Parts: sequence; structure tokens; C-alpha cells
Amino acid sequence: MRKTMVIGTGPAGLTAAIYLARANLSPIVIEGTQPGGQLTTTTEVENFPGFPEGIMGPELMDNMRKQAERFGAEFRNGWVEQVDFSKRPFKVKLEGGEELEAEAVIISTGASAKYLGIPGEQDNVGRGVSTCATCDGFFFRGKKIIVVGGGDSAMEEANFLTRFATEVTVVHRREELRASKIMQDRARGNGKIRWALNRTPLEVATDETGVVKGLKVRNNAYGQEELLEAQGVFVAIGHTPNTKFLGGAIATDDHGYIAVKPGTTETNVPGVFACGDVQDMRYRQAITAAGSGCMAAMDCEKFLEGSMVHDWSGN
Ligand code: NAP
Repeated sequence: MRKTMVIGTGPAGLTAAIYLARANLSPIVIEGTQPGGQLTTTTEVENFPGFPEGIMGPELMDNMRKQAERFGAEFRNGWVEQVDFSKRPFKVKLEGGEELEAEAVIISTGASAKYLGIPGEQDNVGRGVSTCATCDGFFFRGKKIIVVGGGDSAMEEANFLTRFATEVTVVHRREELRASKIMQDRARGNGKIRWALNRTPLEVATDETGVVKGLKVRNNAYGQEELLEAQGVFVAIGHTPNTKFLGGAIATDDHGYIAVKPGTTETNVPGVFACGDVQDMRYRQAITAAGSGCMAAMDCEKFLEGSMVHDWSGN
């Protein structure tokens, strides 16, 4: 049996692993199907403090992993299929049947951006297609951008992207937006935002050299296809927290994100902690994930020392 286990290896999980390993809590770290998490699918990360020239996402994650290994974290490739958090030690079953036990568990399995699933989309992720305006907006200075979605995220991304783009077009599949009134009003009041409502995205179009040139849509009112020109297509149709494997063992909020006691990483199960995007619908940044990973490790340490009072109330 291990003292501690970390499930998920994005910035949150790896930071937790560094802190746990340095505290002599010998973590076993389950990597999942996408070791390194969402940052391994981006190119340059320009907003992680400490890298004035920027750093490539995969390199940043590789560095964090090496740092955790240096202090004794043990990594295991595998996909968690099932958990039993009903009593300690906690049990985690990997695909293939192997069972691992730990006295305390940190969940940092992240969230996955939803994609449209249309032709040309996946081929161009990181090369004209993005799901993160904060991460990639800067690369589209002086260019035309499309934002797909009609929710608060789409409004927020569209507003943010007007700092860089000459013009941002919001493409939404219905006439009415889903976004809250305040977010809609803000976007509607922004002179750089154009609207292509009642349009269903069909394909991310590229030119003969393979460079993104726009989004092919169907105009639902008239039934005809249109090409909306842009160099960047930002998909903002929501995220899915990766909590399915928990099978309801941990309390979640209405959106499926793990509920934590405000200001901490404590879940409703004493000894199970959550950090990073799996419990954060709001900030979703590498640096905030890393920060919450540190918090989870410190909470975990306190729990194992027996000095934590569990008076849980989720947010
Ligand atoms: P969301 O509210 O679920 O909105 C997703 C949008 O994407 C909807 O307009 C939806 O269209 C569209 N969509 C979904 N699947 C699609 C597909 N396959 N093709 C085309 N369009 C598709 O997600 P969200 O905007 O990420 O917001 C999630 C939660 O976070 C919300 O509760 C929101 O209020 C909150 N949030 C708050 C803030 C803030 O307050 N600052 C910022 C961001 C998010 P339909 O409308 O037709 O379903």
C-alpha cells in the first residue's frame, strides 16, 4: 500500500506529486491516456511565469515530471477504471485489473474541451484551431477570428480575442444565445464582434497549402452553405470534467465538476482531494492548476498527520 496516490498528470497532478514526494509521502502517480494533460496538445506556453521567452507545452510538462521523479515520485502508465473510496485504504482499479491502494488520494484528471467533431478540426488543433483564447489568442494578432458557441465561454472568448483580432465572428447554431444577459450585452456592445447566428459549423476549411482559411457553415434559415473567412477558429462549446471513472464515489456540482470545500481541495470524502480543472470551471489555467496541486499536497499531508478537521461543505 502507498501513502499517497495522484490520479492525472497535468500541471495540477505533477505539482502535487512534487510536493508529496518532497514531503516523503512516496506518491504513486497514475498517468492516464494523455500523460501531461491538455498542455501537451498546445504549442508554445507564454503565460507560465518563469519562462520569459515562453516554453513549449510538452517540454514544460516533461520538466515537471522529471522534477517529481527527482524527489522519488513513481509513475505508472494506466487508466483508472474504478475506485472504491468507501473505506481506507482507498482502492483504485486500473484497466487490465491491477488494483492499487493508498491512504490518501489526489484527483487531478482535468477536463476536456469539447470539440465539434467536423472535418478539418482535429487536423488543425494548434495550427489555426484552438479551444483556449487565453493560451492562443496572442498568435492571431491582426487576423480574423471565428468563435464557435453561444454560451458564456464563447462570449468571454470573443470579447477577449478582440484585443488581438481585427474582427471576431461568433458562430452559433441557433438564433438565440445561451449566454447570460450580462455576457451577451458585453459582447453585443463590442464593435469588433460580428454575428453569424443560426449557422451550423460543417468544416474547418484550409487553403491549398493546408493553412486554415475559415469555417464552412450551413445557414439554417436558407439551407445554403457559406464560407466564413478567418485565420483562427476558436471552439468554445464547453468542457467535460473527467470524472466518469469515479462512478459517483465523490460529490460533484451540477456540471459534473468535483465539489471541494471552498478555499481548499477537500472533497466530501476525508482523505480524497481534488485539484486542477476537474474541480475548476472558472480559471482553467496551467498556473492555477499547479497552484491547486500544491494546495492538494499540503492538505493531504495535513490529513495524514491527523491534524485535519473534516467539516466539509461543497461549493
Ligand atoms: P455552455 O453554457 O454549455 O454553452 C455551450 C454552447 O456551445 C451552447 O451555446 C451550445 O449551443 C453550443 N454547442 C454545444 N455543442 C455544440 C455543437 N456540437 N455544435 C455547435 N454548438 C454547440 O458552456 P460554456 O459556455 O462553456 O459555459 C459552461 C458554464 O460555465 C456555464 O454555466 C457558464 O455560465 C459558466 N461560465 C461562466 C463564465 C463567467 O461567468 N465569466 C464564463 C464562462 C463560463 P446551444 O445553445 O444550441 O445548446
